Amino acid sequence: MASREHGSTKAVPHGLRTSSPIPIFMYHNIAPLPRGVTRYRGLYVKPRAFAHQLGLLHALGYRALSMSDAMPYLRGDEHGRVVVITLDDGYADNVDNALALLQHYGFTATCYVVSGAVGRYNEWDSERLGLRKPLMNADQLRAWHAAGMEVGAHSRTHARLSRCSPWVMKDEVRGSKADLEDVISAPVTQFCYPYGDVNDAVVEATREAGYEGATTVQRGRAVPGSDLLRLPRVAVSYRHILPQFAMRAFTRYEDRRA
Ligand SMILES: [Zn+2]
Repeated sequence: MASREHGSTKAVPHGLRTSSPIPIFMYHNIAPLPRGVTRYRGLYVKPRAFAHQLGLLHALGYRALSMSDAMPYLRGDEHGRVVVITLDDGYADNVDNALALLQHYGFTATCYVVSGAVGRYNEWDSERLGLRKPLMNADQLRAWHAAGMEVGAHSRTHARLSRCSPWVMKDEVRGSKADLEDVISAPVTQFCYPYGDVNDAVVEATREAGYEGATTVQRGRAVPGSDLLRLPRVAVSYRHILPQFAMRAFTRYEDRRA
């Protein structure tokens, strides 16, 4: 006769407990490192490294999902070997270099787009960086979405939301959703706080605007039952060779740094 304890876990596949952490990876540029860039190089992951990371996930039986596709897992309604891929700011290199690789493995991903900068460049940090990086235009956003990828919102101007007046803050949160829904003709239900800058009022505005999930830059892996509007992430940069990527994804390395 099976023990009570054994019986209570029979619905969960071996090795997968309901509390399995889910890494939400944070990427920015998927592109070769531009010449002469010495600052903020951590924002880059080379396409070949990205391919190797996806290949590793696939080889280990993981599926990489967009935020919306992962919501049932983050809520704890479904269980499985999943990770989440997010790409911040909406760089054109995401559609040029990352899309085909994601499609190759049947993975999905969420790109968080600054709605007031569609088709422009990274106006919020181009001076500090000494580099203007092209952002996806409306056609590229529609192509990204039509390929099964998700468009999430990242405010209208990449504002530090906790420092905005309440009216401006709400407009950044709500307005970026409306702007992007106009572009892709589909609901936008995921948000990412620029600079990870968030406080209770910003979270409340995000909830009121109708977002189902929102990510920060707090380090750590999400666990089912995490606050869905304050989700931590695991940053990936050009410095991380494959074993480091694996350590961040599959061990408590990042969780201990939360
Ligand atoms: Zn950003």
